[in-house]
Amino acid sequence: MNNSYLDTNIKASCCGCKVCASVCPKGVISFSLDDEGFWYPKIDEEKCIHCNKCRKVCPLTKEPLHILKDENQTYAAYMKSDEVLKNSASGGMFTAFSDVILNEGGTVFGHVYDEGCRVICAQANNESERNRMRGSKYVQSDMHNIYENIKSACTKGKNVLFTGTPCQIDAVKHYFNNIPPENLYTVGLICHGVPSPKIFSEYVAIEEKKVGKKIKDIVFRDKENGWKMPLIRHCYTDGSNAAKLLNADAFNNLFLGTDCILRPSCYECKYAGKQRVDDISIADFWGIQNKHTDMFNNDKGVSVVLVNNEKGKELFLKAMPALIYKQVALADAQERNLPLNEPCKPFVLRERVFKEYNKYGAKYILYKYMFRKKFLSSFPIRALRKIYRIVKGVLQK
Ligand SMILES: Cc1cc2nc3c(=O)[nH]c(=O)nc-3n(C[C@H](O)[C@H](O)[C@H](O)COP(=O)(O)OP(=O)(O)OC[C@H]3O[C@@H](n4cnc5c(N)ncnc54)[C@H](O)[C@@H]3O)c2cc1C
Ligand code: SF4
Ligand code: SF4
Ligand code: SF4
Repeated sequence: MNNSYLDTNIKASCCGCKVCASVCPKGVISFSLDDEGFWYPKIDEEKCIHCNKCRKVCPLTKEPLHILKDENQTYAAYMKSDEVLKNSASGGMFTAFSDVILNEGGTVFGHVYDEGCRVICAQANNESERNRMRGSKYVQSDMHNIYENIKSACTKGKNVLFTGTPCQIDAVKHYFNNIPPENLYTVGLICHGVPSPKIFSEYVAIEEKKVGKKIKDIVFRDKENGWKMPLIRHCYTDGSNAAKLLNADAFNNLFLGTDCILRPSCYECKYAGKQRVDDISIADFWGIQNKHTDMFNNDKGVSVVLVNNEKGKELFLKAMPALIYKQVALADAQERNLPLNEPCKPFVLRERVFKEYNKYGAKYILYKYMFRKKFLSSFPIRALRKIYRIVKGVLQK
C-alpha cells in the first residue's frame, strides 16, 4: 500500500496523466470518467500481476524533482513575427522553441483538437502539423498512449520537444525514470488548472445545437480585439466562424471566472510556485505594460520565459534571433501570475455546482454560474440579496 490514487482513490492524488497505464506490462489499467467528467484509472485486479510498476511511475506519489532554478534567468519575450503573435495565446514562445527543434530535423509533441473537438497530445514533424498545437485549449488534454511515441522519437537520435502542463512533463520524466534522454527538451506552461473534458464536450454540443453547425476547433484566445481583451472564436467544419468576448462565454467563466470546474489535483497542484520541473517554463506576462513599458508590443502578446537549466539556456539561445526579449526580475512575473506562487483555491460552491450538474446537466450550470464571480461567491447569497435591496432602496429615494 502506498499513497497512490490506485490504492487510496483520493481524487486530488491523480492528475490524469495516464503514465501508469502506459507502463503496465499486462495492459490491465483502464480509464473511466467520474461524475465530474474527469478520467481516473482502474486496475483489473483479476489480471494484475502485482509488479507495482504503475505505482512507481506515478508522478503524484512523490514530491516533484525540481530543477534548481537560477532566478536571474527570467525574461519578458515575444516573437518578432506578427503572424505568429496573431496565432498564439501570448508571445508565441511555443512557436519560437518548436521552430528551433523542427529546423534541426527534430520532432515536437504538443496538444491539438482531434476530429471530435476533443483535446489530445499529438506529434508534429513539420510546421503545418505543429501549427495545430498553437493556442491555449482550456480543457484537460488526453495523453492516451503518447509516452511510447515520445520514447520511440527519442531513440531515433534527433532532438525531441515535449510541451504541456507541468504534471504532464513530470509524468514524461517519470516514464524515463527521472533521467530524460539527452535529446529530450521540455517546455512547460505555467498552469492554472484544467477544466473537465466532459463538461467541455457538452458545452461544444450545446453551442453546435444553437447554430446548427459542427465545431471543428475553438480559439480561446483570439487577438482580434487585442491580447488583454481576447475573443473566443468557434470555427465550424463548413469553414465559417463566429467570435465573442471571452469573458462573455459560459465555459470560460466557469473555468477562469470561478475556477469551479478544475480537476481536484489542480487545487493542490505540486507544480505551482517558482520551482519548476521543465527546462523552460512559459506563460502570459500579465501586467507587463506597468512593469516594462518598453516591452509592451501594442497589445499583441508578451510571454514570461523562465530558463531553468542548461538545456533551457541552449534552446533559448538558439531561439533568440527570432525574439524581442528583456531580462527581468522573477518577482515581476510572479506579481500577476498566481500559479507562479501557489495553486488556485477551490471555489466555495464547487460541490453544489457538480451536484446540480449531475441533476440538471451542463447547460443548467453553465448559464446559472457564468456571471458568478469567485470573490462574490464567498458571500452568502442572502447577504448579497440584502445588499442589493439596500442599494436599490437608496437609489429609489
Ligand atoms: C490549461 C491551461 C492553463 C493555463 N494557465 C495559465 C496561467 O494561469 N497563467 C499564464 O500566464 N498562462 C497560463 N497558460 C499558458 C498560456 O495560456 C499560454 O499557453 C502560454 O503562455 C504559451 O503561449 P505561447 O504564445 O507561447 O504559445 P501558444 O502557441 O499559444 O502555445 C501553445 C502551447 O500550449 C500547449 N497547450 C495548448 N493547450 C493545452 C492543453 N490543454 N494542455 C496542455 N498543453 C496545452 C500546446 O501544446 C503548446 O505548447 C495556460 C495554458 C493552458 C493550456
Ligand atoms: S501492478 Fe503491475 S500488472 Fe498490476 S496494474 Fe500495476 S503495472 Fe499493471
Ligand atoms: S500515473 Fe497519472 S493517471 Fe495514473 S494514478 Fe498516477 S497521476 Fe493518476
Ligand atoms: S494545475 Fe497542476 S495538476 Fe492541474 S493540470 Fe496544471 S500542472 Fe497539472
